[in-house]
Amino acid sequence: MLWFFALLITSWALFYYKTPILWATVALALLLGAYTKTFGLTVCSIGLWAVFLVCFIPLNIPVIRQQLFSRWIFKLMKGALPPMSQTEREALEAGNTWWDAELFSGNPNWKVLMDLPASRLSDEEQAFIDGPVETLCAMLNDWDITHKRKDLPPEVWSYIKQQKFCGMIIPKEYGGLAFSETAHSEIVMKIASRSTTAAVTVMVPNSLGPAKLLLNYGTEQQKNHYLPRLVTGEEMPAFALTGPQAGSDAGAMPDTGVVCYSQDKILGIRLNWEKRYITLGPVATVLGLAFKLYDPDHLIGDKENIGITVALIPTNTPGVSIGRRHNPLDSAFQNGPNWGKDVFIPMDWIIGGVDQVGNGWKMLMQSLTTGRAVSLPALSVGAAKFTCRNTGAYSRIRKQFNLPIGEFEGIQEPLARMAGETYILDAARKVTNAALDNGEKPAVISAILKYELTERMRRIVNDGMDIQGGSGICLGPKNYLGRLYQVIPVSITVEGANILTRTMMIFGQGAIRCHPYIQKEMAALQENDLKKFDNLLFQHIGFFTHNMAASFWLGLTNACFKPVPGNRDTKRYYRQIARLSVGFALLADFALLTLGGSLKRKERLSGLFADVLSNLYLCSCVLKHYQDQGCLTDDAPILQWACQQTIYRAQQALRAVFWKLPLRPLAWILRSLIFPLGKPYSPPGELLIHKIASVLLTDTPARDRLTRGIYINSDADDATGRIEVAFKAVLAAAPVETKIRFAQKQKQLLKGDPLKMLAEALRKCIISQDEADFYVTAEQTRLAAITVDDFSAEELMGNGFKAE
Ligand SMILES: Cc1cc2nc3c(=O)[nH]c(=O)nc-3n(C[C@H](O)[C@H](O)[C@H](O)COP(=O)(O)OP(=O)(O)OC[C@H]3O[C@@H](n4cnc5c(N)ncnc54)[C@H](O)[C@@H]3O)c2cc1C
Repeated sequence: MLWFFALLITSWALFYYKTPILWATVALALLLGAYTKTFGLTVCSIGLWAVFLVCFIPLNIPVIRQQLFSRWIFKLMKGALPPMSQTEREALEAGNTWWDAELFSGNPNWKVLMDLPASRLSDEEQAFIDGPVETLCAMLNDWDITHKRKDLPPEVWSYIKQQKFCGMIIPKEYGGLAFSETAHSEIVMKIASRSTTAAVTVMVPNSLGPAKLLLNYGTEQQKNHYLPRLVTGEEMPAFALTGPQAGSDAGAMPDTGVVCYSQDKILGIRLNWEKRYITLGPVATVLGLAFKLYDPDHLIGDKENIGITVALIPTNTPGVSIGRRHNPLDSAFQNGPNWGKDVFIPMDWIIGGVDQVGNGWKMLMQSLTTGRAVSLPALSVGAAKFTCRNTGAYSRIRKQFNLPIGEFEGIQEPLARMAGETYILDAARKVTNAALDNGEKPAVISAILKYELTERMRRIVNDGMDIQGGSGICLGPKNYLGRLYQVIPVSITVEGANILTRTMMIFGQGAIRCHPYIQKEMAALQENDLKKFDNLLFQHIGFFTHNMAASFWLGLTNACFKPVPGNRDTKRYYRQIARLSVGFALLADFALLTLGGSLKRKERLSGLFADVLSNLYLCSCVLKHYQDQGCLTDDAPILQWACQQTIYRAQQALRAVFWKLPLRPLAWILRSLIFPLGKPYSPPGELLIHKIASVLLTDTPARDRLTRGIYINSDADDATGRIEVAFKAVLAAAPVETKIRFAQKQKQLLKGDPLKMLAEALRKCIISQDEADFYVTAEQTRLAAITVDDFSAEELMGNGFKAE
């Protein structure tokens, strides 16, 4: 028994310290030698030596190892490799890996994250946010836009163009603003907190709109012609990829371009397409069109089927039909179908010219890599902060059962969720923007941001709607949340629909791109290089066995000896990330090894792995954000909530993975290795919930920090301004109410609504006349803030609603 334990401990140490095979052989030989010395040459010791020599001697001689061992795995893996389409390969090659690869390594190098400079705005960017962005927000009236005009007012369109909102990512040499991703995100976030219609309108030209494609791939002539015009809005762009038959599987588009000569002998392309859902399409002057290019007469080369290509099509070109609109959930941004019938374009309308034919998918994937991490995440954080600030205030001013509803435990639960989630969202947004501004282009992280931030925003707004009750439901100029709630599915669906993003993209791409060995092994397989494969395979086996040993050790000790950064508040969370990261790496490897290519079709399993990776990434961002903000004590409860929530979710997803793994006995062994003492993490507790809900119910710097960067106004006639005014007035008058309630408790005053007790309280000198006036004003403001709109029957049946 003792020898068995000695063998176990030795194996564990060899695995944990990733001992090279030669040293492992020596160590095991010494152990066996000691055993033989103790018991002599018995049948058992001879048997053990025989097994040892047969297994370990060949492993130490690469040529024998390759032939006896690696060759078989090589063949097996080659057969199991799923076929990869051109579009899949190009998607995998887009961008790079960053912190996602660290989490996949099972042993994240915290220096990578900690050394990242915090996101910052330049003076010029800050001035733009405080100036033109603030002015634009003040010009926006969401009710007017979404219900009456179904469009932005002409003066808003002019202002957007004049202030170069469409040229935020365009360099100064073309007249653009050349802003950082951080600034871009802050601007979209602020506008989104006022009007999603305006935010989407500004987002598109700065996201996948042809500007980005032109900057990366355009010819000098195209850049010089289009970029200055895009900056000033002289050209309004739209990007047309999706069609009736090609949605999520956009690479399957049936739209064609055929290389041919025009009647006047100009070499060009004859295009036929049908697209839908194209944002800004109905008002676009230039369309970035994706289509499949064919050259049946070999006019530009040997290839007939050239592949996806992107060209810029002025929308007034003969044969183009454009202008009709969709109605995307009553939001008023311009969106519609377009189609072209035998549209002839010259070759130099292709982005990048004839050199870029067939590179369209690669160009799109490269551009989406960063765009997906900026626009929709910024919009989501804007919506989240907006909901937190306004619904939080509403739950302080709205009273039921003689108390602000925010004081009820039932309401505090969603309030805490909203605040905690918003902190997570903002942390992820800021840290990822900092990484982008630092030159990273992390494709998997972009997908995580797009999915997690839009999903979590959906939950925040849902919670907000529940708290708002009828005031969120009855639409009208006073309702600030209903339209936002209505339009959420747009962000869920566009730029990679969320179900697909979670179940196919995050882990599907991550498993190949972020894994330390898989991509290299695949390359060795494709190159038929057995030697290289053998070398990688043994490193990979070392990685797997190390992760087994490390999982068990970290599980047993709850990672408390693991060196990590952080302070008293945060160290334990860094350790938990490290612990779950190694468990994740181990299970991911097990799934890859046992399921091979079929893992691609196991979307439910892939979705769970995505949840683990995403939550570990979000938790890392929360810790980094807390550090970047100077580890403020006031924010400690919200940090704890955010860490506990993400770590708990990662744990639950990791445990759910076990149920979906094949080879059940092995899966059970892995489960006991990773969680040797059961489930270590639980969701945030009661005290934290109460503390965090209070952040939204009080006018504190913590609340301002949480909602920083959105549009805030104090106009008593504005939908949100009146909430802000009432919130402040009610808080200011709270001491008067406290005096009255105390007097009621002391039986100096009758029970009931404090407003009705004012006269009596005055008479008994419990409050002063000024205090009474103050309280009455606050109550009037409060009552004004909770009113909802109503309409006459004619108004409801008319073309637009008009508030009474
Ligand atoms: C308001 C709006 C604006 C848009 N703007 C533009 C634009 O400017 N330019 C442009 O080119 N496109 C645009 N789109 C198109 C958008 O990108 C597509 O709607 C999106 O790609 C999804 O395509 P689909 O709507 O056809 O859904 P489908 O592809 O039919 O998908 C339906 C559902 O199936 C899921 N699904 C599909 N395949 C899988 C799979 N393999 N595994 C798991 N789940 C899967 C999806 O996640 C989704 O939930 C816009 C769409 C909308 C609604």
